[in-house]
Amino acid sequence: MPRTPVVDQQCCISCEVCTQICPEVFRMEGEEEGHGHDHHDHKSEVYNPTGAPEEKIEQAMDACPAACIYWED
Ligand code: SF4
Repeated sequence: MPRTPVVDQQCCISCEVCTQICPEVFRMEGEEEGHGHDHHDHKSEVYNPTGAPEEKIEQAMDACPAACIYWED
């Protein structure tokens, strides 16, 4: 089974780095609702945990300045 990435939204600072590195897996909350320009209060979320290879997801984890993306056991 592939591992599942999780975002701890309590510590997400909405920098959007993970969504830029790995848009297949992460997106900013609210983007699917179509008002995509005001991202300030939006947290990252995992919308497609198996959308990218684990190595790519790990790149996003490593790049997250708040270190709030992790693998769920
Ligand atoms: S890289 Fe980390 S802090 Fe930045 S939006 Fe993604 S989860 Fe949040």
